[in-house]
Amino acid sequence: MEKHRDDYFVELRVLCASVVSIYLISDYRMKLDKLSFGVGDRFGREGKAQLRAIQEINRLGFPVVPVWNKSNREHELVGTNQKAVKQEADEAVKANNWNGNYYVDADHITLNNVDKFVDYSNFFTIDVAHFIGQPVETKLKADFLKRTANLSIPGFSEAVSNFDLHRFADMYLTAIHEVKLLHDYILSNKTVGFIAEISMDEVPLAQSPLDLYFILKELKYLNVVPQTIAPKFTGMFPKGVDYEGNTELFAEEFEQDIRILQAAKEQMEFQQDIKLSVHSGSDKFSIYPVIRNLVKKYEAGIHIKTAGTTWLEEVIGLARGGGEGLRIAKEIYHQGSIRFDELAAPYLSVLHIDTEKLPPSKEVLTWSSAHFANTLIHDQTCRDYNPHFRQLIHISYKVAAEMGKEFMDALDYYRDPIEEQVYTNLIDRHLRRLF
Ligand SMILES: [Zn+2]
Repeated sequence: MEKHRDDYFVELRVLCASVVSIYLISDYRMKLDKLSFGVGDRFGREGKAQLRAIQEINRLGFPVVPVWNKSNREHELVGTNQKAVKQEADEAVKANNWNGNYYVDADHITLNNVDKFVDYSNFFTIDVAHFIGQPVETKLKADFLKRTANLSIPGFSEAVSNFDLHRFADMYLTAIHEVKLLHDYILSNKTVGFIAEISMDEVPLAQSPLDLYFILKELKYLNVVPQTIAPKFTGMFPKGVDYEGNTELFAEEFEQDIRILQAAKEQMEFQQDIKLSVHSGSDKFSIYPVIRNLVKKYEAGIHIKTAGTTWLEEVIGLARGGGEGLRIAKEIYHQGSIRFDELAAPYLSVLHIDTEKLPPSKEVLTWSSAHFANTLIHDQTCRDYNPHFRQLIHISYKVAAEMGKEFMDALDYYRDPIEEQVYTNLIDRHLRRLF
């Protein structure tokens, strides 16, 4: 008897979720603004300084909204939770008198960890990269091929005629159906609406503009309405440093991506724009002019997700502060070098560190504040700047987390130089170049 009752409740829950789903699809109450930018930081101390930079770009005429993002991976390594991210965002918004929209992003979530994020997030980055290339059910594939045969997309007719739908189905269908599962799970727990982002960026193979089109087509068929999509773009997006790849090829692909999303919106009658989301978007200075020009040309929206590099500004602030701050910065580098393999392991596909180019810790111990800071600051015109050093420090946040009170007290003691670094980095090197 018990079993039957449970089944009944499960069915009722699914039914409720479907009703909610239909209601929300027709009335997506939460609508992401056209220009949005990822903020947030490893240790949750820099929300106000980051928001101040967002306020400045708004004052300059660009209505950019902040999205606090922190991935499950970061939470696990630092020992934080999503409730603290929401708190940081709420506090910064209150302290800075921000009247605009703001979001808290459950970044790179899967069915395994979504529960920890549901109550505190209104933006969900549904990551299905692991399902790309997984075997697809025969019936699912046959059904998809039947629905998409003889399809035409204005402006893309040649590309469509050369597009291999079989390859696409084998590659992406299972992942797309996983999006549906996770999306509907969130929907059944989040009756006030939410922003859905689909991310497929942490894979070796870039998705083509037509891949994006058919991903959206299948999502639409499944009643899933993403507001942003984060593809794997051509080239490499290493954490904390500049883009590596052919910027002309990137520009070509990015333009096609914008055009195909606009065509998809029109053809599939999506209620709102679907924006591109650029992951690991901080510090990709060589492609910022491309993004800026194309977003302007097509009057498109954009979401830039950052790679959590704000914590590097904290280390720069500590080094600049001298004394104990500089000592802590050097200790982070020293421990980071010793534990390189362990710290790099979660980031192998998004790191480009040549260990030969890392200065020995012994030498770093003798450096002045200015030397340490100049090696770390992302200024490619500075002779001391070392991208390998910068990436190593970037992945060493676990070392700082383990220092615990010592590190957190230093963040308080050196508050002024740190906030100055955080603010200047965001407004001068990022927002002003992007918008
Ligand atoms: Zn990503």
